[in-house]
Amino acid sequence: MSKVLIVGAGGVGKVVVHKCAQVPEVFSEIVLASRTLSRCEAIAAEVKELTGRDIEVRALDADNPENTIRLLDEVKPDLLLNVALPYQDLALMDACLARKVDYMDTANYEPPDVAKFEYSWQWAYQERFKQAGMMALLGSGFDPGVTNVFCAYAQKKLFDEIETIDILDCNGGDHGHPFATNFNPEINIREITQNGRYWEAGEWKEIPPLSIHQDFDFPGVGVRRAYVLYHEELESLCQNIKGLKRIRFWMTFGEQYITHLKVLENVGMTSIEPIDFQGQKIVPIQFLKALLPDPASLAKNYTGKTSIGCLIEGKKDGKHKRVFIYNICDHAECYREVRSQAVSYTTGVPAMVGAMMMLTKKWQGEGVFNMEQLDPEPFLEALGKHGLPWHVEER
Ligand code: NDP
Repeated sequence: MSKVLIVGAGGVGKVVVHKCAQVPEVFSEIVLASRTLSRCEAIAAEVKELTGRDIEVRALDADNPENTIRLLDEVKPDLLLNVALPYQDLALMDACLARKVDYMDTANYEPPDVAKFEYSWQWAYQERFKQAGMMALLGSGFDPGVTNVFCAYAQKKLFDEIETIDILDCNGGDHGHPFATNFNPEINIREITQNGRYWEAGEWKEIPPLSIHQDFDFPGVGVRRAYVLYHEELESLCQNIKGLKRIRFWMTFGEQYITHLKVLENVGMTSIEPIDFQGQKIVPIQFLKALLPDPASLAKNYTGKTSIGCLIEGKKDGKHKRVFIYNICDHAECYREVRSQAVSYTTGVPAMVGAMMMLTKKWQGEGVFNMEQLDPEPFLEALGKHGLPWHVEER
């Protein structure tokens, strides 16, 4: 029996609240806090309708740790589950340290004014969490998250030695809009428009954005074109998977998506540099976000599937081996269950499962952890049971 404080009432937050509400034996009390109270209220009303459970709601500006500390004093949760934006990670970790509350999130810290995401800022909390005897779990979404756990599972159960990993992320769905992003547009576009990067032979190789691509046959979707991007799980996996020679991350994009993105970029709409506009400072990408469909609103008419997995090559019993470990998730089924699309669903379910691992003490530790540092088996068992079945295919 435990109490969780969920911070962030966006597309992912909504799925997390629904999924926690479905497991009352672990999440006996749920509090949802976010910047805009009405968003929390709307989620609470929907969860009441679908599960009959009551969710407490609070307004919270999590940029200031003092606000969160006050809320922690009032709510006294066993765990703070952060699904606000990456900009809030450090302020929330500070608040958790101040009140000795365990912490977890789904995305690594990113400063608002530099499009650069990396773990250094959060890894710098290692000693403080250790000394306080508390645990912080980083990146418990799908990618990062489940993909890290797939790699840990491959290392533990399927291979003697892993040589290469290719993480392949395909959204084969159709939302019917000419251009929209599936999660927070600002974070999404910042991720895609920066230089690509992968790790090989002990060093990082940098490439121009979307300059390497390959067609891949995704189970449940078919052949799609995938592009090399930098993605945050590469940073921890290249350190934690022993003997690794190369790791890359690939994401699929359609022609139409790339054309829109190029035009927006060429006219300056994806820039994070503030500009003067009629006596006001505006950040172009934030203005663009206001024009684009709210990712949560895409859910209702979304069709098709996501197919995400890890293609891993290496050796087992002296022989070469290649496996693809993956999950397929159907947009319309997610909508029927929790009224969300599959991109939010595939992030929200692992966030709930990560929280469950911590609260049931199947995952315990002092310090700051990436997902592959913990035992993959209980996590994967719960993942399949709670909506994201996974498969291992020899290729
Ligand atoms: P949304 O933009 O839909 O939601 C973010 C929520 O955070 C909003 O409710 C927003 O409030 C709230 N918020 C923003 N700033 C603050 C603040 N200062 N204080 C309190 N609340 C705040 O994003 P998503 O739900 O799509 O994404 C949530 C997180 O999940 C992001 O960090 C994203 O990077 C991560 N993610 C991880 C994935 C993975 O696989 N690991 C995949 C997809 C997303 P308001 O409503 O007022 O704007």
